Amino acid sequence: MSSALMANYGHPELQFARGQGVYLYTADNERYVDFTMGIAVNCLGHCHPHLIAALKKQADTLWHTSNLFSIEPTERLAKRLVELSFADRVFFANSGTEAVECGFKMMRRYHYHHGRKQRVRIISLTQSFHGRTLAPVAACLNPVHIEGFLVGDAGFDQVPFGDLNALRAAITDNTAGIILEPVQGEGGIRTVPVEYLQAVRQICDQHGILLMFDEVQSGIGRTGHLFAHEALGVEPDLLASAKGLGGGFPIGACLSREHVAEVMTAGTHGSTFGGNPLATAVGNAVLDVLTGPGFLTRVNERATQLRAGVDELTARYPTVLAGHTGLGLMLGLRCACSNADLLKAMAKHRLLAVKAGGNSIRLLPPLNISAEEVDEGLALLAEACADLS
Ligand code: PLP
Repeated sequence: MSSALMANYGHPELQFARGQGVYLYTADNERYVDFTMGIAVNCLGHCHPHLIAALKKQADTLWHTSNLFSIEPTERLAKRLVELSFADRVFFANSGTEAVECGFKMMRRYHYHHGRKQRVRIISLTQSFHGRTLAPVAACLNPVHIEGFLVGDAGFDQVPFGDLNALRAAITDNTAGIILEPVQGEGGIRTVPVEYLQAVRQICDQHGILLMFDEVQSGIGRTGHLFAHEALGVEPDLLASAKGLGGGFPIGACLSREHVAEVMTAGTHGSTFGGNPLATAVGNAVLDVLTGPGFLTRVNERATQLRAGVDELTARYPTVLAGHTGLGLMLGLRCACSNADLLKAMAKHRLLAVKAGGNSIRLLPPLNISAEEVDEGLALLAEACADLS
């Protein structure tokens, strides 16, 4: 297929004409079970009626004013996020990488504000993924993402995942803060151990440096909690959110405690589209559903069902599957065969999922998936495993 698009995504051939709930349909009406959900974005499935209604209503009312003016749904969404989380303040952006960028700027500005101008360096973990703009790629050091793009080290240091001694050794008088994903996504669905996270929090407090969580993928109910760190019992100073927050509509947010947010005085940061009323109207609609009675309990129930099914398939097909990782409905399939081969076999049986590091596959179903739909996904996974065993 010839395409006028740049080749940075390759040129995928599979194209969908419409989506409904957990299903995607081609123009020929071939139905796929979608466990990609736009890479953990469509948290309520495709075309959720409450989200459609919110978007249509906002589209009929007001599309865009910019932050020259106060925006009602944006004020409301910020207030709700603050009430529901560790945070005191919110900055809205349009994507995950921008939410992360905002956090990086805030870490530096915080120390600058307090007269510690040398504290500019930020520590990240190996196998992390924080986005594709320059600062996040410099933080992650994925060879494919940095080749030909970086100037120097851009102010980032990287330490091995889970290694506290390496982390302690990397902290200097120039360190501003640490960023990590409580559950790594692209890196292969790896949950940071609780004891490690507790120790990182202590180290940050000891050194007066800031702790930022990247919950772009793990947040907004994906792990059965509004944010994954709630399951791990450790709070950050800053947090990047995006993906599920818009249920499919582009939005990002940097959430912050007051002591950091207070340094972001008028004019320090901004975005033309950030906090756009269409995006925040949908964000509010996502929270309406997510905070509904029993919603997160049901996410955990479906996650338990999915994990049990994967356990059963792992026992049945040990040359294909080697177990699972993750929290809630952010599930990593460890592959005993090549993850690319398994993904291909799954797609042949009309089950879609996402590749991840460590020879794994991410299963990211909608959070409102039914028990029957989980079983349907597991049955298709079983057929794919049977093909390969
Ligand atoms: N951080 C994490 C943990 C992510 O998973 C992603 C995207 O996959 C990003 C940041 C970047 O988000 P975006 O692609 O919206 O810029």
